[in-house]
Amino acid sequence: MYDEKKALLIPGPSPVPSRVMRAMARPMIGHRSSDFMALFSEVAARLKPLFGTEEDVMVITGSGTAAMEAAVANTVSAGDKVLVCVGGKFGERWAELAQSYGAEVIAYSYDWSTPADPQVIANYLEKHPDIKVIFATQNETSSTVLNDIPGISKARGNSSALLVVDAVSSLGGVEFAMDAWGVDIVVTGSQKCLMLPPGLAFIACSQRAWEVIEKNTSPRYYFDLRAYRKGLPKGQTPFTPNVQLIFGLETALDQIEAEGLANVLKRHRVMQKMTRDAFTALGLELFVKDEAYASPTVTAVLGEGKFDVENYRKVLNKDFGVVVAGGQDHLKGKIFRIGHMGQWTPVDMLGVIATMEVALVKVGCDIPLGAGVRAAQEVLVS
Ligand code: PLP
Repeated sequence: MYDEKKALLIPGPSPVPSRVMRAMARPMIGHRSSDFMALFSEVAARLKPLFGTEEDVMVITGSGTAAMEAAVANTVSAGDKVLVCVGGKFGERWAELAQSYGAEVIAYSYDWSTPADPQVIANYLEKHPDIKVIFATQNETSSTVLNDIPGISKARGNSSALLVVDAVSSLGGVEFAMDAWGVDIVVTGSQKCLMLPPGLAFIACSQRAWEVIEKNTSPRYYFDLRAYRKGLPKGQTPFTPNVQLIFGLETALDQIEAEGLANVLKRHRVMQKMTRDAFTALGLELFVKDEAYASPTVTAVLGEGKFDVENYRKVLNKDFGVVVAGGQDHLKGKIFRIGHMGQWTPVDMLGVIATMEVALVKVGCDIPLGAGVRAAQEVLVS
């Protein structure tokens, strides 16, 4: 199967629209040129509605984890007590990062198929009023759970703890209202809902966060957010940015704005419902039971006991060019995850679901062929 004909439905990187690819083929320009500075100022400002903030959005050249590390390096000083919500691989990453900066980490570990409970967070804060930072993940890609970020933020009550949120696999595909929800730091990456190749990380900080950042004592250089903030009014980054990705970002933002952010978010919800309803109609079980806290950008289906999940993924990829992700850690071989983020549309999903049904039959799973497509169609006619 030619790569161009493959359907990449992993939860990132997601497919890059051809107009974004073309935009990135523009000739290189100097990153201190007036052209670049004008472009960079413009795209940085146009990112704000996606974050739901009036604060600056800073751009770091690096993967999403670069922005995660920047958040930790700038807010955690050695010995600080932090609370980390761990319901999957990316919650674990927050804990590892905080540990590596010398934090005393309290891990609130919860079942991977459920969201973090804001009441439990309130209880931790009551027991440990000296918690300085809370780390959470909006969309836990490994478990496909969508956490209640406004609920977690509210659970802080009068606590001065900062709330730092990983929105790497959700921002631009799921509502985020940083200012209205009172979130202090939000991080995301380029290769998911923003429809770009990997390589850019984005981070926004509240005024409260900046106060902590100024006083923080952790060593930092490439990730010193003060340097990123200083350059922004001039359209500058402290180090040479990935200029090509900034070209691409401009076009990706054109695409999001042309569709309208509200419509983009709605489209992700429609694809979520189509996918969930389709696999339920086929008699398969969803890993996240309740739509209320299921991810709008990636859906996990349980296959263990019915068919060999890893073989199914192989058949899907080799025979049909449909690429989906497997499970991570204890979920390997148990679930497969379908990423429906970025430029995917409900019309695409009809074809994907139809193909996934055929592959299920090929691996010997007894399903009512066509029932998934029908359920997905019903979402579109309702
Ligand atoms: N956080 C979440 C929720 C993710 O899905 C990912 C990537 O899959 C990351 C963080 C890490 O991003 P990156 O691999 O770009 O460093």
